[in-house]
Amino acid sequence: MLSPELERRLGELTDLSAAGGLLGWDQQTMMPPGGGEARGNVMATLATLAHERQTAPELGALLDAAQPDGEREQAIVRVARRDHDKARRVPTELAAAMELAAARAQEPWAHARATNDFALFRPYLERNLELRRRYVDCFEGAEHPYDTLLDNFEPGLTTARVREVFGRLRQGLVPLAAAIAAAEPAPVLPGPFPVAAQQELALELARAFGFDDGSWRMDLAVHPFAQSLSPQDIRVTARYREDDLQGLFAVMHEVGHGLYEHQVDPVLGRTTLGTGVSLGIHESQSRLWENLVGRSEPFWRHWGPKLRAAFPAGTEDLSDDDLLRAINVVKPGLIRVDADEVTYSLHVILRFELEVAMIEGTLAIGDLPDAWNAGMQELLGVAVPDDTHGVLQDIHWSFGELGYFPTYAIGNIVAAQLWTAIRRDIPGLEDQIAAGGYGAIRDWLREHVHRHGRTVQPAQLLERATGEKLDPAPLLEQLNAKYRALYRI
Ligand code: ZN
Repeated sequence: MLSPELERRLGELTDLSAAGGLLGWDQQTMMPPGGGEARGNVMATLATLAHERQTAPELGALLDAAQPDGEREQAIVRVARRDHDKARRVPTELAAAMELAAARAQEPWAHARATNDFALFRPYLERNLELRRRYVDCFEGAEHPYDTLLDNFEPGLTTARVREVFGRLRQGLVPLAAAIAAAEPAPVLPGPFPVAAQQELALELARAFGFDDGSWRMDLAVHPFAQSLSPQDIRVTARYREDDLQGLFAVMHEVGHGLYEHQVDPVLGRTTLGTGVSLGIHESQSRLWENLVGRSEPFWRHWGPKLRAAFPAGTEDLSDDDLLRAINVVKPGLIRVDADEVTYSLHVILRFELEVAMIEGTLAIGDLPDAWNAGMQELLGVAVPDDTHGVLQDIHWSFGELGYFPTYAIGNIVAAQLWTAIRRDIPGLEDQIAAGGYGAIRDWLREHVHRHGRTVQPAQLLERATGEKLDPAPLLEQLNAKYRALYRI
């Protein structure tokens, strides 16, 4: 059995993390702009407290002395030990310098992006990179320096493995995207889609997926996200635009994230293991609901009539077939967050290759914009007109977050692998989706993915759920089958 003192300390870490999550959620949904500065102080204080608790020698001693019973307690001690050791390896001075550099880079990055002036951002990115290199040096034994950064988002994944998997993904996606670009374009959704009606439909959709009014909230935010404060307190946020339906799909995406946190085994609640195991697995959940359920043909057999009823003027000229094609438009573009199901991972592959080169020191920051533009041409066949729509578009590097981007494409890959297993395990899946029923999918995900929280490493979780290792083949097969039919290639 775990000692009450160890349980108390893990509970405290969970609480501090939830408090930080609540403040962050509030900042993006409710807080008046004037609260920004004070909120920054409160969040920094909380982060310091959490870091002190996480690195406390007393916690290390309790973990050393722990005598866990059974698989669950063993997992708690193993993961808590790993979190503790990782946090202790980074000197407080370095951790503070990384936070400070990230905070200082925000305004110059936003300004550089607004004015298309990479030179303005360059010294801040160089500083972030220098600090990340020092961070990497705190850890020994990694095969590749980028492995240490990846591990913060996708525990256990290596650069070599990502290179191999992304190489195969790239080989499959580039010709598919090119074939679609050469085919007859899909119709576009004419719109408009009044926001109030979108909000109503989004809530109906979220409830059908598993949003329960006793444990969830939905609010508006500039950038949609999901935040769990506990499995029984899930916050999702949304944003709608009148000229398209992106807001609806973003809700499906965020509800997918929320369901993961909602269905974690309650016994893991305050152990620091009661949350998603990695960003890649998390993204697989959002992508599965958004793309594999939400953009599928049987799904729109059920929701198409509701969409037409909500937006008669915006949909009347489209046949059911055209509606499905319009919902699944593929168009290589400049901006990652606007990318479709086929081209999205290509944006990620570019960022991964550039990050690895930056960490290896084979790409100087001054050469980054040219490397970006050449990569966009090669991968997506698009010419980048300026850095605002190129290398400056994402916020991640201004925070010094390297190793994060790959998890988006890992999520797409894992979602497709899980979907193959779901299709095998749930008889009559299509009919259930066409009838608007998602309980069997939700239960399958709870059993094979959600309930485990952080007790099982991502690679192990995937292998237990699907019988396979990380493999881009199912994603490529599914995309080819779906889009070659939709685009009549
Ligand atoms: Zn996501």
